[in-house]
Amino acid sequence: MVDKIIRSKRKTLSLHIDDSGGVIVRAPLLMPQLLIDRFVNRNTIWIKKHKNKVLRRLEEIPPRKFISGEKFYFLGEEYELEFRDNSNKSIVLEGNFITRPATAEEIKRRFRKWYRDEARFYLTERLNICAEHYKLPYKELKITSAAHRWGSCTSKGCVNFPWRIMMCPENIIAYVIAHEMAHLLQLNHSPRFWREVEKMCPSCQEDRKWLHANEHKFTGF
Ligand SMILES: [Zn+2]
Repeated sequence: MVDKIIRSKRKTLSLHIDDSGGVIVRAPLLMPQLLIDRFVNRNTIWIKKHKNKVLRRLEEIPPRKFISGEKFYFLGEEYELEFRDNSNKSIVLEGNFITRPATAEEIKRRFRKWYRDEARFYLTERLNICAEHYKLPYKELKITSAAHRWGSCTSKGCVNFPWRIMMCPENIIAYVIAHEMAHLLQLNHSPRFWREVEKMCPSCQEDRKWLHANEHKFTGF
């Protein structure tokens, strides 16, 4: 049932299902196998449930191949990848995502750069407007490579968003921004925090649910 045991200097056991449905156990360096087995057995229901969830999502959204005609999201819309021999090495979005042919690994790199540049441009503008309008102590924006986290915020006024957020529809990005900006005032998820989010994004509860149900579409690579 377990695909990999990763031992490290930690004190507790933990279970994790990776993006391909593999079951990973993290364990302390010297923990006896017997205790690990016992832990796994106690958690079989959890493992099956979460593994199935990942496998179902993989079926729905197969891993990216970065081939011609494949579709990629931008602001919630899908656009096809098109190769043109005479085009630039970088990606441009003109009806389709257009770029010069290259290996899958290189196309993936170009996409990441493209999303990252778009995120920097788009989010800078949105954050500045929001911070000014609601008088928020916002200092710095960082674009991250986080795969399973849509935003985070530090007590020093730094807000982080993954470049993947640019795949999401605009109303969802607006919700994630409102969520992190509200953390500048409340570093918790208290009712007071949610009141701040709601001021900036009245549809936050529906948006949050939508993101939870659809986020797997935007974490592909
Ligand atoms: Zn939060």
